[in-house]
Amino acid sequence: MAHGALDNEIQFLPGVGPKRAKLLAEELQVATFGDLLRLYPFRYVDRSSVQNISDVVSDSAYVQILAKVVRVSLLGQHSQPLYVKEMTATIEGRDDGQIKFNTVKRLSAIVADASGEMEIVFFKGIKYMWNRLIPGANFIFFGKPTVFNGRVNMVHPEVDNLPQSGTLGTTGTLTGVYPGTEKLKNAGVTNKVMNRLMGLALERCLGDIRETLPDYILKEKGLVPLRFALRNIHFPSDATALAKATYRLKFEELFFLQLSLLKQKYVRSRSEVGLMMPKVGEAFNACYNALPFDLTGAQKRVIKEIRSDMMSGHQMNRLLQGDVGSGKTMVAVLSCLIAIGNGYQACIMAPTEVLAQQHYHNISKYLAPTGVSCALLTGSTKASERRTIHSSLQDGSLGIIVGTHALIEDTVIFKNLGLAVIDEQHRFGVEQRSRLWRKTASGIPPHVLVMTATPIPRTLAMTLYGDLDVSVIDEMPPGRKPIQTVLLAERDRGRLHNFMKKQIASGRQVFVVYPLIFESEKLDYQNLEKGYEDIVAAFPFPPYKVAIVHGQQANDVKNFNMDAFVAGRAHILVSTTVIEVGVDVPNASVMVIESAERFGLSQLHQLRGRVGRGSEKSYCVLMHGQKVSKESQKRLEMMVATENGFELAEEDMKMRGPGDLEGTQQSGLPISLNIASLAKDGRILTDARNYATHVLDADPVIEKPENKILAEELRKDKYQRQDFSKIS
Ligand code: ADP
Ligand code: MG
Repeated sequence: MAHGALDNEIQFLPGVGPKRAKLLAEELQVATFGDLLRLYPFRYVDRSSVQNISDVVSDSAYVQILAKVVRVSLLGQHSQPLYVKEMTATIEGRDDGQIKFNTVKRLSAIVADASGEMEIVFFKGIKYMWNRLIPGANFIFFGKPTVFNGRVNMVHPEVDNLPQSGTLGTTGTLTGVYPGTEKLKNAGVTNKVMNRLMGLALERCLGDIRETLPDYILKEKGLVPLRFALRNIHFPSDATALAKATYRLKFEELFFLQLSLLKQKYVRSRSEVGLMMPKVGEAFNACYNALPFDLTGAQKRVIKEIRSDMMSGHQMNRLLQGDVGSGKTMVAVLSCLIAIGNGYQACIMAPTEVLAQQHYHNISKYLAPTGVSCALLTGSTKASERRTIHSSLQDGSLGIIVGTHALIEDTVIFKNLGLAVIDEQHRFGVEQRSRLWRKTASGIPPHVLVMTATPIPRTLAMTLYGDLDVSVIDEMPPGRKPIQTVLLAERDRGRLHNFMKKQIASGRQVFVVYPLIFESEKLDYQNLEKGYEDIVAAFPFPPYKVAIVHGQQANDVKNFNMDAFVAGRAHILVSTTVIEVGVDVPNASVMVIESAERFGLSQLHQLRGRVGRGSEKSYCVLMHGQKVSKESQKRLEMMVATENGFELAEEDMKMRGPGDLEGTQQSGLPISLNIASLAKDGRILTDARNYATHVLDADPVIEKPENKILAEELRKDKYQRQDFSKIS
C-alpha cells in the first residue's frame, strides 16, 4: 500500500542527504520519513523553565540555564590560554581574523546567572561558537552537566538565543529528547537537528498519515487519532496532549502485538488436531488416591486446565510456571497418567542427567500404586539396558520414560507417544523439541507440557508466550518454612564457618555456590578452586567431607560427587551454578552464595530455592565482595526482603529490562517495542490484551469490513514472524 510521503527515503528530507541517511539507517534503523516519525522521544525537557546555575549538580539529567557570557577562552594543546575575550575588552589585543584555529583544542566559556557561574566547553565548532558567544550576551544553554576537575560543567550544550520577547515562552515548550549516538552527533545530527528534521517530516507527512485503528476502537477505548498522536508525541502542545498521545501509541503498539499473538494461537488451535484423551483413567485415580497429601488449590486448578486441553481434540501447548518446590512434578505425573489412561505413552525430559535421575526416583515413588511401568534413559544408560528400553517403547510395553536429550535420538521410537513433558524449558531449543514432535506414529503431535521454575513476570509471559497457554502454580504446599536470608561480607567468614559447623553437627548439609560467568571463565574457575581449598582447610577430613562439582569435570566424576551429596555422604557441596536447576536435597538447609552481587535476581532466587525443601529451618547466606554497585546492593536487599519469585522477577525486569531476564535471552521478544515498556506498562498491556481478545471473539480471523485496517496492519513484516514460541 502506498503511503505517500511516509515512504520517501530519508535522504530526501532537507538537511539529511546520503551520508546522514546512511547513519540514520545504521544507528537508528530509520530509512523513510515514516520510520523517522515512529522514532519517539524517550524523554522531554520543559523548555519553558530554566534552572539556577547554583542548583545544577553533576548527576542532573538535562538542564537548561539562562546565562550571560562572562569570558571566553580558546585553549591550546596543554590547556594554555591562547586567546581570551571578556566583557570589557579583548585581551591580547588581537582581532579574530588573526586567530589560528587549527592550534586551538578547546573553547571554554564562563557563563553566569544571578546564582553563580559555570563553564561551558566545546571541542568542535570552536570558530562558530567563538564568534557567537559574545561576552555580555545572554543565551539559553541546554545540556547534560558533567564533572571535570571537581567542577560542574557542560560539554557541547545546545545554545539558543533568547525568544524575541526576552522571556521564555509558556506553551509548546516541551521538547523531545531523541535517542542519538556518538556517530550521529559527530555528523551534526544533534538533538536540536533531530527536532528540526522531525518537524519537517511531520509537515510533509501529516496529510498522508492514515489511521491504523478502526473508528469503533478509538471510540470505545477513548483514544486520540494517530495524526494527533504523532504530532503531539514529537511536539506536545501541552502535558495533557502529550499524555493522550503517549497512551494512544502505547496502546496501539501493545494491542497489535497481542492481536497478532492471539490470532496465531486461535488459528493454530483450530487447525491442529490433537490426540483425543477423554478419560481420566484408573492409573490417575490410583495415584491420586494414594497421595500422602492433598493437592494444593493451584495444583488442582492446573490439572483441570491440562485435562481439558487433553480432551479438547486440539493439541496442547501449555507452559507450566511454578516456583521451585511448588509441586510441578506431581502435576506432570498426573498428566502422564491421563495419557496412560487413554492408551498412550508419555515422556518426561530433563535438562541434565542428575535431574533426570531425580525425577525418575520421585516419579517411580508416585507410580508405585498404579502399576504403570517407568524407565530412565540417559547418556550413561548401559547399551544392553538401552536396547531393552528401546524395544519396550516401540512395542508399547513401557508406559512412561524419563530421560535427558537421549530421548530425542532417532533410535528412540514410541509406539504411541501421547504427552511430552519438558522440564526447564529454556534449556531446550526449538529444534530439539520438534524432534520429539516427530516421534508419533500417527503423525498427530503429542500434547506438550513445558515446565519452568523461572518465574517470568506476567507481562513478559503474555508476550513471550503470548500464543501459548500458560498455567501458573502460585501457591506453595503447606508447611514450608520460610528461608532466612542474610547478607554477609568477607569479614564475617569466620562466623559463617561456625554457623555451618553447627548446622552440620545437627545433621544438615550445606551448598556453597560460586558464580561462573562466561567472559571470565578462567578466573571464575580459579575462584572456585580457591574457595574449595579454603573450605577444605576450614572443614578438614575427618570428620568433614566436602564434594565439588563443576562443568569442567567429566560426567562420571560430576555424577559421583553429586551423588555423594544427594545421598548424604558429603556435608558440603562446593559448586558452580550447575546445581541451579531442580536438584532436590531436602536435608540441605544452608545455601551459601559467593560473590552474590554477580548474580541476577532470578538466578539468586533459583539458587535459594535449593534449600527449604525439608522440614528444618533453612538459610540462604549471600556473601558479597567489597565493591558492590548501588544496583547490586538493591538486588541483594530485595532478596532479603522477599521470597516471592514473581515479585523478584518483576523487580529484576524493572532493573535490568526484559531482554536480560533469565530464560528470555534465547527466545527473545517477538518484536521490539518502540514506546511501550513491558516493565512499566503492565496495565496498558493487560487492557490491550483483553481488548484484543474481545476483538477476536467477534472476528476470529480479522476479516470483517470494520476491521479491514487491522488486517492491513497485521500483514506488516514485523507481525509475520511465525511460531517464535511454539513449543512443539
Ligand atoms: P517443583 O518441581 O515444582 O520444584 P516438586 O514437584 O519437586 O516441586 O515438589 C516439591 C516437594 O513438595 C516434593 O517433595 C513434593 O513431594 C512435595 N509436594 C508436592 N505437592 C504437594 C502438596 N500438595 N502438599 C504437600 N507436599 C507436596
Ligand atoms: Mg522440579
